[in-house]
Amino acid sequence: MDSKPLSILKKHFGYDTFRPGQENIIQSVLKQKDSLVIMPTGGGKSICFQIPAIILEGTFVVISPLIALMKDQVESLRANGIDAAYINSTLSSEEEKELIIKMRDEKLKLLYLSPEKLLSESMIRILKEINVSGFAIDEAHCISVWGHDFREEYSKLNILKTQWPNVPVIALTATADKITRRDIIKQLHIDEANVFISSFNRPNLSLQVQPGQKVYRQVKSIVDRHKNESGIIYCLSRKSCEEVALKLGRDGYKAAYYHAGMETAKRTKVQEDFIKDNVPIIVATIAFGMGIDKSNIRFVIHYNLPKNIEGYYQEIGRGGRDGLPCETVLFYSFRDIMILRDFAEGSKQAELQLAKLKRIQQYAEAEVCRRKILMAYFGEDLKQDCGNCDVCLNPPESKDATITIQMALSALKRLKEKIGIGVLIDVLRGSQKSYLFEQGYNQIKTYGVGKDISYEDWQHYILQMLHHGLIEIAYDQKHVLKITDAGSDVLFGKRKVNLVLPYEKGHEAHLYLKTEPQKTKKQEFEEALFDILRVLRKQIADSKGVPPYVVFPDNSLKEMAAEHPVSIEEMAEISGVGEFKLAEYGTVFINEIQNYLAKSEVQNTSIKGKTYIQTLHLIKEGNSISEIAKARNIHETTVYSHIAYLVEKHLITDVNEYVTIEEINQIRGAVEATGQNTILRPIFDHLDEKIDFGKIRLGLSFLKTSGNQ
Ligand code: ADP
Ligand code: ZN
Repeated sequence: MDSKPLSILKKHFGYDTFRPGQENIIQSVLKQKDSLVIMPTGGGKSICFQIPAIILEGTFVVISPLIALMKDQVESLRANGIDAAYINSTLSSEEEKELIIKMRDEKLKLLYLSPEKLLSESMIRILKEINVSGFAIDEAHCISVWGHDFREEYSKLNILKTQWPNVPVIALTATADKITRRDIIKQLHIDEANVFISSFNRPNLSLQVQPGQKVYRQVKSIVDRHKNESGIIYCLSRKSCEEVALKLGRDGYKAAYYHAGMETAKRTKVQEDFIKDNVPIIVATIAFGMGIDKSNIRFVIHYNLPKNIEGYYQEIGRGGRDGLPCETVLFYSFRDIMILRDFAEGSKQAELQLAKLKRIQQYAEAEVCRRKILMAYFGEDLKQDCGNCDVCLNPPESKDATITIQMALSALKRLKEKIGIGVLIDVLRGSQKSYLFEQGYNQIKTYGVGKDISYEDWQHYILQMLHHGLIEIAYDQKHVLKITDAGSDVLFGKRKVNLVLPYEKGHEAHLYLKTEPQKTKKQEFEEALFDILRVLRKQIADSKGVPPYVVFPDNSLKEMAAEHPVSIEEMAEISGVGEFKLAEYGTVFINEIQNYLAKSEVQNTSIKGKTYIQTLHLIKEGNSISEIAKARNIHETTVYSHIAYLVEKHLITDVNEYVTIEEINQIRGAVEATGQNTILRPIFDHLDEKIDFGKIRLGLSFLKTSGNQ
């Protein structure tokens, strides 16, 4: 296989290895084959056409439906030193002309266009004149009426193959079932395309479902766990978005809301603020998120049950694109089901929508590994339980609940199956609400038999009774409850049933908090450094007018905070630091890290590089070797060895202050004579013990780095 893609991955993107699938896709495009790529959000689709674009001569044309997305991608490419541009209505005709000249000169590697723009006569004429190296169609599901986001203009993209039969087309999407897949191939006339389907599993997203009780309080505790981190809270209605955002604001959190009912300008502003890390929390309807490339979203909360699994998975999929952990929590209540049922019934495809609602309801009520259910839904078989969902981490405990169930069924029967869940619980708990007395419900035999069980726990049990098919909801009769045949069997003692016990008191959405161990000094040290680097990143991003993650993604900063790169060579090893970014930002970040290492009060010898940098700092302040030894309470030989290390890292280039040219020459002679360049003793002896160990060590480092050895 061609090794060029890998070296480009390192050089331009700063990554060492390809993610699953990427390399084969790149080779397919390089061989001029058409390709269809199905990969989940965050899987790393962009690189699959960006690397061929860099390798192939000419300009690779990328068709993308959203201007915000184009802008983001172009900024990210430029930050990596790759020549890319987009054409849309915001460009002046002068700028457009310049771009065209650049393309004619084969200087532009990637051009982003909307489908409308591409299909315009003038654009087609321009593209005909230049060397087009390939076409990428992002969000390719928009081409199919079977997809969930059909766009008229996308359906005309078959023009690519009729006009440019020999130019490779790569279509990419995160959501495509079999029908959509086939349709994309058919519509684009790419019948011979290589099809690449990646796993949809995103192990870094934790999965949790919580009962929808006291939701706001639980949301607050999740947000508290993610101080300074970005997250999205999805709500069902516009009104509740505004309310929740307002409440969070009143409670001292920085949150904004976003929904389709707002003016475009305001929506754009909210989106920008989120992307640029100005506002960390967005409370939104599902209108939010499409076309957001932000890689460092650390939590996604569903305040309400989503309509279907596709939508849910896409929404949580916006979290953790950088591969770092993202916490997702879904709050599930019966009220949501009622509302969503009404939506579904009023829709054009009522039957389909209801079936989809049923599937997500089953997911929310599941007592087996949730990821298994999700993957099964997308046609994948997860061999093992995931270990990163609430069911895996906290397996539900169940016990015989026949008597409890009989209480509820008996009350229901006595009330002639004409009541809903709320009334049933009130009766069971012997509530004093006046309507019960007015209706005479307080007269029945089972009134108050379940008063020892809390309202929430009753909800929990009744939900499970529904799940077990012991009762059902008569949706056509004001949602009253009916006892099924299976329910009758339990009522008359013919069958026993186990139910999952309710959560312990106080057990709310802090599943992950519970297992979090105490932080070590080292972790605290790294977290503080991460915060400092994040502030620096934000300053740079603001001065350049780009989102912070365009400067460096979170995982690069995390790695810096853990590895403490203090030299250019070390910085180049950090994931996400390509040659261009190294030249652009390397020194600033190194200086910040050095400063922190030198100044931090934390005394922990396991902190990488700290001791050397402290010595470096003292040298820079003009201290002599003996002064440093004294100040730091270490031997002079140790100081010499520090300097040797610093020389090898190119942090000190001038060594003559510590060891003269003459001494270096003598050391070189001794190395040649003894054939020894790592063990100091033979050299020391050879030089008649006239040059001390510290200097020898330093001399060797100098010879090594100056290529004299
Ligand atoms: P998608 O378009 O599939 O949602 P992106 O192309 O935006 O995903 O990639 C998601 C993130 O993963 C980006 O931050 C990208 O830089 C990163 N990424 C892509 N490929 C690799 C790789 N081989 N190694 C490390 N990170 C990668
Ligand atoms: Zn699991």
